[in-house]
Amino acid sequence: MDFALTEEQQLIEDAAREFAQNEIVPIAAKFDASGEFPTETIRQAGELGFMGVEIPEEYGGSGLDSTCYVLVMTEISAADAAHGTIVSVNNSLFGVPLLNFGTEEQKQKFLRPVASGEVNGAYALTEPQSGSDAAAMRSKAIRSADGTSYTLNAKKAWITSGPVAKYVVVFTQTIDSDGDSIGISAFIVDSDQPGFIVGKTEPKLGIRASATCEIELENYVCPVENRIGDEGAGFKIALTVLDAGRLGIAAQSLGIAQAAYDAAVEYSRERKAFGSAIGSFQAIQHKIADMKMRIDASRLLLLRAAWSKENAKKTGARNTLNSSIAKLYASETAMFVTHQALQIHGGMGYSRELPLERYFRDAKITEIYEGTSEIQRMVIGRAETGLR
Ligand SMILES: Cc1cc2nc3c(=O)[nH]c(=O)nc-3n(C[C@H](O)[C@H](O)[C@H](O)COP(=O)(O)OP(=O)(O)OC[C@H]3O[C@@H](n4cnc5c(N)ncnc54)[C@H](O)[C@@H]3O)c2cc1C
Repeated sequence: MDFALTEEQQLIEDAAREFAQNEIVPIAAKFDASGEFPTETIRQAGELGFMGVEIPEEYGGSGLDSTCYVLVMTEISAADAAHGTIVSVNNSLFGVPLLNFGTEEQKQKFLRPVASGEVNGAYALTEPQSGSDAAAMRSKAIRSADGTSYTLNAKKAWITSGPVAKYVVVFTQTIDSDGDSIGISAFIVDSDQPGFIVGKTEPKLGIRASATCEIELENYVCPVENRIGDEGAGFKIALTVLDAGRLGIAAQSLGIAQAAYDAAVEYSRERKAFGSAIGSFQAIQHKIADMKMRIDASRLLLLRAAWSKENAKKTGARNTLNSSIAKLYASETAMFVTHQALQIHGGMGYSRELPLERYFRDAKITEIYEGTSEIQRMVIGRAETGLR
């Protein structure tokens, strides 16, 4: 066993860190305050190959491995979790369904521009009444009598990059021309086509620079060649995508935790109380020890999950369990660490002059999206017991 990164992985981590620290850190607070989408830095991320890290070069990506992807996600999220969210959507939520289930033509037409960062993608599974229970979606696609197209009517909620996306992977119930239900299918929808409506923007606690909105489809006509995979295969596609996506969120969690931890250690060395650096107090050292231990454990779980994903790619197997464990542990670590790091900063932790309160707000989302902590525990518990 070797815990060291390969030379290539190390180079990618260094490049991502340099970009994130030099370009994203200086603007993160401003974009968090305004809630504006960071178009310019996301464009730069695309130029550096970070919007399609694992996507093969022939489809506009960088053709790197899963470890490189999580390293990029960690570094970008350590600078600003909102950027991490946007990057993860192009890479995982949009990239994976196209790469794994798309046709050659779909990959060239839709995956290439998203993986290269030329345009943004989005993924629309959640609806106002159905999140964790995604199969309870009500949106519908009705197949035309001649079989050449579908008419989509949908209301999707909480869609990251929804206001700026050119292409969106949308999941709906599917009804054939006789009115029979065929289960959930996945479609690629173009936001410039008639019937695509950007709904209300979601005001959010954190990751405020990532744009999130409702999306409605009103009699949107989708040609049959824009369906991803088979009719009725949509739910399996959605779950496979989440296996990959959860790895990105675990990496995002680790990045947020690492940034908060680094700030807390530095502050504990500098801040004096009762004549000593606060870092010399046992109460503070114990917090630092607990933070460090959980961050290291998160990193190891994340790298194990990236390694097993790389193996799963070769066999076509799912990577559900390791992804869920990494996501659950790292997201709860992000909450724990940002809480402790803010506490170590005392009143300054509560101030908007420092990024601690932003880390604290941003960390919360990692326990919610791409499967809440309760759902991750359910996935792990079911896998371990074999019971449902
Ligand atoms: C900022 C943000 C960005 C998002 N981006 C996207 C996106 O790009 N695309 C997309 O499709 N969705 C997106 N989502 C939606 C997100 O994935 C859902 O919010 C999430 O899956 C939870 O669903 P819900 O909000 O409907 O909560 P619910 O499913 O209603 O859950 C409410 C509570 O009940 C618990 N619960 C539910 N079922 C069970 C169970 N069986 N056992 C135990 N507890 C349970 C949950 O854990 C939670 O605590 C985003 C959400 C947010 C907040």
